[in-house]
Amino acid sequence: MSRILVIGAGIVGLSCARALRAEGHEVSVLDRDPAGDKCSFGNAAGIGVTEIIPASVPGLARKVPGWLADPLGPLSMRPGHFPKLVPWLLRFLKEGRWDRVEAIAASLATLSARTYDDLLPLLVELDLMGDLHRVGALWVYETRAGFEADRRFHDLRRRHGLVCDEMDGAAAQALEPALASTIRHAIMTPQWSHVADPKRIVDRLRTHLEARGVAMLQGEVAGIAGRDVQTQDGRRLAFERLVIAAGAWSGRLARQIGDRALIESERGYNTTLPTPGVSLTREVIFAERAFVATPIEAGLRIGGAAEFAGLEAAPNYARSDALAQLGRRFLPGLNIEGGTRWMGHRPTTADSLPVIGRSPRRDDVFYAFGHGHTGLTFGPTTGRLIAELVGGRPPAVDVAPFAIQRFN
Ligand SMILES: Cc1cc2nc3c(=O)[nH]c(=O)nc-3n(C[C@H](O)[C@H](O)[C@H](O)COP(=O)(O)OP(=O)(O)OC[C@H]3O[C@@H](n4cnc5c(N)ncnc54)[C@H](O)[C@@H]3O)c2cc1C
Repeated sequence: MSRILVIGAGIVGLSCARALRAEGHEVSVLDRDPAGDKCSFGNAAGIGVTEIIPASVPGLARKVPGWLADPLGPLSMRPGHFPKLVPWLLRFLKEGRWDRVEAIAASLATLSARTYDDLLPLLVELDLMGDLHRVGALWVYETRAGFEADRRFHDLRRRHGLVCDEMDGAAAQALEPALASTIRHAIMTPQWSHVADPKRIVDRLRTHLEARGVAMLQGEVAGIAGRDVQTQDGRRLAFERLVIAAGAWSGRLARQIGDRALIESERGYNTTLPTPGVSLTREVIFAERAFVATPIEAGLRIGGAAEFAGLEAAPNYARSDALAQLGRRFLPGLNIEGGTRWMGHRPTTADSLPVIGRSPRRDDVFYAFGHGHTGLTFGPTTGRLIAELVGGRPPAVDVAPFAIQRFN
């Protein structure tokens, strides 16, 4: 059994800590703010098992100028960050070929297929099964052109066993009466689910791990030298094995090991409306507008956006407001008063695949990051895979496509 240090107390780091602790290792988790806000707190709460299509797809380049022209549209880049973004962007664009889309989808489908096998035991252990709503999700479209453009992606999902049932606008409105009559087409994905509160999962998991002897250490990593992590306040934390699960910050830490990862913060925004005045049963994905609405315990959460501005720039909460306004267009009667605005750093790789595996430079360092839009969904499975790799056992899914070497 090893002394293992996990950097990062988000859903991914905590899932790794849980799986490693269950195997008897001595585990500590280091985070600059273990209980503080992080991407894993405010996300859209979706267990998005059908999210196997990468972000870079053929034809995307045609849409980008229109998106960028709208300052509060679904995509934005801050000019000052652009030079740093270039290597990531070039690789992102290179991935936008259909053969790569199919290969990436096949790899993500291996994680998707395990999602509930790994999530359900976690929720049972945390006594949170009542928080899981297995009611599917509805992808809605205003135009036939938009619906037809996505057909190839829904077909690809079907090839991996993911159910995508087509319906017209009236059938969608029968399922979700709050939807505007402008919705003409929809896809129901029954395997999708959502949780009542993603923050509660992370909070409960953290205290659960502490009760099982996992130390939660507060501190910011300043450097990694030999088998010591040095913190900004001058401590040296010795480890036998190190797991880097620091979300969007992980690329910086991997560089200290000598590994390169093309990972960016894809900043996402939302507004949670406590008294929305309309109700949804399930998560609704407004596919042509790239935003979602999820009925969570705190109200209706309306979120989306992809903003490339790095890890330091202040949030632009006008984006949260713009999403709430957009929600009103598709959910007539939506009350957007009193909303809570939030921004989170999605840890997004250039090829939409997470990094899961051992460093090629050091056999005592493991990576678990880069889950982009699906960290809540694939976090528990990532924890299992890391525990299997640390234990020297064959992992439940082939982790070769997730190796960091693909960026070296
Ligand atoms: C708007 C939005 C909606 C989303 N919706 C969904 C969804 O519906 N379903 C889904 O599955 N996913 C969703 N996601 C994505 C999901 O939230 C992320 O993939 C996931 O939270 C990433 O978890 P993580 O543990 O890797 O990172 P984080 O939760 O960001 O945790 C990383 C931790 O590392 C710590 N850290 C970083 N650097 C250091 C350092 N140097 N020293 C010490 N500590 C450090 C940070 O403090 C942080 O606590 C969404 C994201 C956004 C932004």
